[in-house]
Amino acid sequence: MPENVTTFPDLSVVIPVYNEGKNLTVLYDRLLSVLQQMHVSYELIFVNDGSSDDSLQFIKTVASSNNEVNYISLSRNFGHQVAVSAGLDVAIGKAVVVMDADLQDPPELIPQLFAKMQEGFEVVYGRRIYRKGESYLKKATAKFFYRLLSRITHVNIPLDTGDFRIMDARVVQVLKQMPERNKFLRGQVAWVGFRQTWINYTRDERFEGSTGYTYRKMLRFAFDGITSFSDFPLKMASMLGFIVSGGAFIVMIYTLLARLVFKDYVEGWASIILSVLFLGGVQLICIGIAGEYLARVFNNVQGRPLYVVDESSKDKQTKSEVS
Ligand code: UDP
Ligand code: MG
Repeated sequence: MPENVTTFPDLSVVIPVYNEGKNLTVLYDRLLSVLQQMHVSYELIFVNDGSSDDSLQFIKTVASSNNEVNYISLSRNFGHQVAVSAGLDVAIGKAVVVMDADLQDPPELIPQLFAKMQEGFEVVYGRRIYRKGESYLKKATAKFFYRLLSRITHVNIPLDTGDFRIMDARVVQVLKQMPERNKFLRGQVAWVGFRQTWINYTRDERFEGSTGYTYRKMLRFAFDGITSFSDFPLKMASMLGFIVSGGAFIVMIYTLLARLVFKDYVEGWASIILSVLFLGGVQLICIGIAGEYLARVFNNVQGRPLYVVDESSKDKQTKSEVS
């Protein structure tokens, strides 16, 4: 086959990598043995998200020995969702799998995802029926978050799913055209529509290393999910405003009556302090909520690129084409 003809592989596997040096060898071995048994053409796309360990070194080594392995390396840590987006941007497979590098998403499930897709679905996501080895707090907050999100959004975002999924190229095409900066991919995929289904799986324990998702990143992620897919918090702010004003109005009438009619009033320090504090709190919350949305508008208006690529396996190809 001539080298310069682009053939589209049946399957692209996009793997965001942030300090996963200890997992990559096992991941790579397990992936290869699964993919080779599937008898499909495939490409692996590793996205190095500014790792500070030897992850990139490993990726480059396998990429140079295996043409099916591609990589892009971002100029710094941009975060999981952006890393996945970067991978999707270069994926050319007819179907694209997204999975974590820490072996929490078992590569052995890819054939099942692929088979389910052949039944006529554009998206098959993995639904975590059980999560091994994650802290109680993480599981509980995640569970609460997905239920809250599904209550306040009109998009049917599936409960308890991560980004482990297979998507048809058509879906990936739409995702690439979604310009928003605050990525919440699992919501965006749900928004795209088509036929979507799931398979259940047990999410394994992280093989080695520690999570790249600090609670801070998780909170950011949760905010992005909510504010990208729901305007409920904005409406809640005004609702809260109405309720509090209603209460204040009643108290106002009572105060006037007490002062003018019953002549029953005291110095009233406590009530003043309480109402000032309470109203101040409510106001700050509401301004904060409006600010969250404003920050998103700001982010999008700035129009910065979503990520910066330092180097990629495409460089390798163009260099070798030139020489
Ligand atoms: N990841 C990334 N950038 C980050 C954090 C994580 O690319 O800033 C990758 C990480 O290497 C892994 C996946 O995203 O492949 C999921 O991250 P992690 O396992 O840390 O999250 P958790 O499973 O604990 O939610
Ligand atoms: Mg993990």
